[in-house]
Amino acid sequence: MAEFRIAIIGAGPAGYFAAQALQSAEIDGKKFAIDMIEKLPTPWGLVRSGVAPDHPKIKSVSKVFEKIATQEGFRLIGNVELGRDISLKELEEMYDGVIIATGSTVGRKLGIPGEELANSISAADFVPWYNAHPEYKNLEVDFSDQVAVVIGAGNVAIDVARMLALNPKELDLTDTAQYALDKLHNSAIREVHLFGRRGAEHAAFTSPELRELPKLEYTDVFIDEGEISAAQQRASSAGEIPKDIKANLEAMAAIATADKKGVDRKLSLHFLSTPLEIKGEGRVEEIIFSLNEVKDGQVVPTGKTKSIKCGLVISAIGYRCLEMPGLIYESGKIKNTDGRIGASNTYVVGWAKRGPSGVIGTNKSDSSEVIKLLISNLTTPKNSQDILEILSSRNITYISQKGWEQINNAEISAGEALGKPRVKITDLQEMLGFAG
Ligand code: NAP
Repeated sequence: MAEFRIAIIGAGPAGYFAAQALQSAEIDGKKFAIDMIEKLPTPWGLVRSGVAPDHPKIKSVSKVFEKIATQEGFRLIGNVELGRDISLKELEEMYDGVIIATGSTVGRKLGIPGEELANSISAADFVPWYNAHPEYKNLEVDFSDQVAVVIGAGNVAIDVARMLALNPKELDLTDTAQYALDKLHNSAIREVHLFGRRGAEHAAFTSPELRELPKLEYTDVFIDEGEISAAQQRASSAGEIPKDIKANLEAMAAIATADKKGVDRKLSLHFLSTPLEIKGEGRVEEIIFSLNEVKDGQVVPTGKTKSIKCGLVISAIGYRCLEMPGLIYESGKIKNTDGRIGASNTYVVGWAKRGPSGVIGTNKSDSSEVIKLLISNLTTPKNSQDILEILSSRNITYISQKGWEQINNAEISAGEALGKPRVKITDLQEMLGFAG
C-alpha cells in the first residue's frame, strides 16, 4: 500500500502541531507524507506575526516547528494561496486528508458610531503591522497625539498597550519592524488607557502578562486600588475564587500598590467601561464610555458616561476567520464537529476550529485529537497527482523548506550585525530573491 498524503493549509502553530501528531503515527508501518501549504513565503503564523517582539522566549517554539519541518516526508510549500493558486476542491481530490489551519485573522468590530474614523484601528491589523507582516506594512497609524486608548481586557490588549506605552529603546534589540520602530521612536504618546467592559475579576488577561507590567523600566502602570478591592470582594462573595482569577487580582493589586517611578510614560488599566462612541472630525479625537457596575453578578450600565480625549483607539476584542469559499462559518469559526468538516476528509484545527482562545501550547493537544479522528476515517491511499506538478504547470513560484531557510538565514545575518534576533524582510519579491 502507498503512503497516505495529507495537506495542511496554514503554517502556524496549529498546523505544525497537526504535522507533529501525524509524524508520530503510522499506518501499516508507513509514515504519512505531509505537505504544508502556506500563503506567505515565511512560515510560523502568529509566532512570527502575532507574538509581541519583546516576548522572544515565546517565539522559541519555532525551534520545535523547524524540527518538524526537517523530518522525512514533510514538505513546506510556501507562497501558495488557497483559492488563488489552488482550490480546496482540488486539494480534497488530491490528498487523503486536508487540514485547514488558517487561524482567525479578522478583528471583531465594536459596532459603535465612529469606529470607521481614521486612527481607529483593530489589533488584528496593528499587531501584524509592528511585526512586519508584508500584508500590513502599509497600515496608516498616527502617533502624534499624547493619549491612546486600547479596548479589551485580554492578552492582545495588554500586548498592544505595552507596545504603545514602553520606551521604544526597549524594542531596539528586538525584531520589531524597522518602519514601526522608527514611528514609535517619534511617537508623542505618553498616556495609554486600557478599558475592559466588565470588572477586573472578569478580565481575560493571564497573570504572567500582568506581572511583567510593573517591571517596565520607563513606564508607570496604574490601576485604581479601590476598583481591585471591590472586584476581590465581588469574586469572593460567590465562594472560593478560582485560581486564575485570584492570581490575576493579586497581580493587579500589586500594580495598584506598587511605588511609581515618576516617569512621563503612563499606562492605566480601567474596568467596567463599555465604549459607546468614537468622535472626531474625520479622525479619532475622543471616545465616550458607558460606566457599568456589577449588580447580582450581572454587569449593568449605571447611566453615567465618561469621555477621554485621545488621538488613537485600538480595539483588541477578539478575532474571526476570514471566510473562504466552500466552507460554512458559525460564530466566526469554520463549522465543524470535533474538527471534522461535515462527512468529508477535511478537518480544521486551531483558532479556525475553536475560536481565538488559548496559548500556543493549547494547539498541541487540540491538533492531536483532530489527527486521531482523521486517521480513524482513512481507508485506502489515493495515489494521485503531485501538487508541485500542478503549481509548476500554473507557473506558480512556491517556496520550499530550503527556500525558507535561505530567507531565515538572511534575516538572522542581517540581525546579527545589529544585535537583534533578526531583521524581518517585508517585501515579497525580496523574500523570493533570497529563496532563490
Ligand atoms: P480574549 O482573551 O478573548 O479577550 C478579548 C477581550 O475583549 C475580553 O476582555 C472581552 O471582554 C473584550 N471584548 C469583546 N467584545 C467586546 C466589545 N464589544 N466591547 C468591549 N470589549 C469587548 O482575546 P485576545 O486578547 O484577542 O486573545 C486571544 C487569545 O490569544 C487568548 O487566548 C489570549 O490569552 C492569547 N494570547 C496570549 C498571549 C500570551 O500568552 N502572552 C498574548 C496574546 C494573546 P468580555 O470578556 O467582556 O467579552
